[in-house]
Amino acid sequence: MTTRICEALSCVWKRIMAAHADVPQATPFLATRKTISGRKHFDPEWWLPTGSDQQPVPEFIVSAEDLGAGPEETLNTIVHTAVHFQCQTRNKIDLVKGCYHNANFRDAALVMGLCCEKPSKKYGYLHTAICAETAPLWQQELHVLDLALTHFRRPDPEEAPPQGAAQDKKVSGVCECQPEPRTVSLPARFVRGRGPILCTDCNEPFDFPL
Ligand SMILES: [Zn+2]
Ligand SMILES: [Zn+2]
Repeated sequence: MTTRICEALSCVWKRIMAAHADVPQATPFLATRKTISGRKHFDPEWWLPTGSDQQPVPEFIVSAEDLGAGPEETLNTIVHTAVHFQCQTRNKIDLVKGCYHNANFRDAALVMGLCCEKPSKKYGYLHTAICAETAPLWQQELHVLDLALTHFRRPDPEEAPPQGAAQDKKVSGVCECQPEPRTVSLPARFVRGRGPILCTDCNEPFDFPL
């Protein structure tokens, strides 16, 4: 099953490489969200050849839990990662402080057929999506992903929604509005194991304590 998924991810990567000569060959790596958290989703030197002095092989990471978001979102993740690789090949700085996706990233992303949301203060143009106009060009890849993504990995227990009384316990989150961040207080079941909640003033997710 994971072999089939990785083959599909590779197939998408090859298509991107065919269209963009400066996106290097890379091997897909299915990892858990927990492993990926806080590290880059692309690395040019992660796979070292054994017993030879050949070049390291780059990898691109896809989170196994996020496969559940479906073919289009998975395609977005792969293309987003390819944009980072391309910027690296071109020696263009696309990330500031390791997380802020700057205008170089946005420009390269647009050329690759991604749309960027309004930039957030902390992450810049982090949130991308496959553009409606370019989606038809990816029909074949979306089909390949659709056939392969029959399963996704269950989130780790600490990421899963709380059970019993714990799910009604309120948790407070703070946004990044300056000078006065906004605070929201919600039952844990609306926060744990669910997607981020955005503040539409600062365009940042509310930060809830773990
Ligand atoms: Zn990124
Ligand atoms: Zn805010």
